[in-house]
Amino acid sequence: MVALVTMTQREHPSDLRLDGLRLGELEADAEHELRAHLDSCEACSERFESFERQAQELGDQAKRLADAAFIRAQQQAGTRRRVMIFGAAFTATMLALFGMYWVGRQDPSHGTSLRLKGGDFTLRLVAKRGSRQWTVKSGEGLVGGDQLRFVLIGVQRPGYLYLLTIDQRQPTIFAPAPNRPPQRIEKSARFEVPGAMALDKSIGAERAFALVCEKPLPSGQLDAVAKKIIAHNRPSEVKRFALPCSQASFLFNKPW
Ligand SMILES: [Zn+2]
Repeated sequence: MVALVTMTQREHPSDLRLDGLRLGELEADAEHELRAHLDSCEACSERFESFERQAQELGDQAKRLADAAFIRAQQQAGTRRRVMIFGAAFTATMLALFGMYWVGRQDPSHGTSLRLKGGDFTLRLVAKRGSRQWTVKSGEGLVGGDQLRFVLIGVQRPGYLYLLTIDQRQPTIFAPAPNRPPQRIEKSARFEVPGAMALDKSIGAERAFALVCEKPLPSGQLDAVAKKIIAHNRPSEVKRFALPCSQASFLFNKPW
């Protein structure tokens, strides 16, 4: 563990590398190492989150522009209608994509915020839709009905397991099940949580959290803290719970 921390904190990843992670272009080992660095480096983690935010905002903007272009083009009657629709939508999308690329290359702004303690792990999500199963990339679009499995990478201390997601409106607690005690898990290089969580139909950014707490949390505490987070922040903005637990989170998106 000491060796891992030393290795991952040795140097800060470049913007290009963070962008590679965002776009899911890295090899599994490189991705794991980079995520471990992000978990241990506040500055880079915030830099990465701001890229994700900007990309998402530009993505939303691209969709709006393309929609507006589509409507405008539809209003033009005539035989060249089809060509114009595609031309206008294509141009708007390319402009927005170029903006996304450009923003991704901006200088990082390193900020500071409260951080509790080390010992965090990495959270990986595996999605299942019909017969297709894949590892979710950061910020990736999922849809209601998709099944999500939680995989905890590098759990360094044993404790009680809590899993939930938050969107703009509400927390959804997956583990422990209602009126059940939390499961105790051991130190583990890779822990696949049994069972899967079905996503609801709500639209927008959503963040999954995994917490491993030394002691069981008082009943209702997780829900209360989650609701407080939702009242004050967007899911893209908060990656930790202010609770004394090892933890990790993962941001995804439900665009439709
Ligand atoms: Zn760093």
